[in-house]
Amino acid sequence: MAPTAGLVIINTGEGKGKTTAALGVAVRAAGLGKKVLIRQFIKGGWVPGEVKAAPAFGNLWDWKALGDGFLKADASEEEKAQHRADTRAAFAAVREEIRTTDAAVVILDEILYCVKYGLVDEAEVLACIAEKRADLHLILTGRGATPGLIAAADLVTEMHAIKHPYKKGIPAQPGIEF
Ligand code: ATP
Ligand code: MG
Repeated sequence: MAPTAGLVIINTGEGKGKTTAALGVAVRAAGLGKKVLIRQFIKGGWVPGEVKAAPAFGNLWDWKALGDGFLKADASEEEKAQHRADTRAAFAAVREEIRTTDAAVVILDEILYCVKYGLVDEAEVLACIAEKRADLHLILTGRGATPGLIAAADLVTEMHAIKHPYKKGIPAQPGIEF
């Protein structure tokens, strides 16, 4: 059999489906008995369904939320600096996990947003990609993928919003949005 190629996968764009596509891969991998590490960089104000589903996958899903969540629009300079420091430290810890994990798939949810807004250096993520195990699949999600990360990836998908219920005033639906 051909050797497994560890892909760098980017789900980006303004449309819906970046995180859910990554979770679809996590389900698929778990179905094949492969371990998945899921690290979420931006926390919402609620516990999403995937977190509640994680125990159903036993030890095949290893899920953790990191960082401080969204930065308030009116955050002070001090709060912004703290947010950056926390996110940077969280990424450094995840980078070490990626170096040592025996998981088949790692998902870094919203890492692209963190890079776009300068919370994590693109160079750090590129270094993480360069040093990862050759057969490890790494999925990066978030709006605004930077050109350097797109260049480093093997599979890049841009979700394009044609319609979204939010535009009609339909609020986020449990099980669909979270
Ligand atoms: P999902 O987690 O549903 O796959 P996503 O990861 O692609 O979405 P995020 O940028 O993480 O998108 O934002 C998550 C939330 O934003 C979801 O509730 C989603 O429905 C909503 N959303 C995504 N695209 C749009 C859009 N074009 N307009 C309004 N809301 C959107
Ligand atoms: Mg998302």
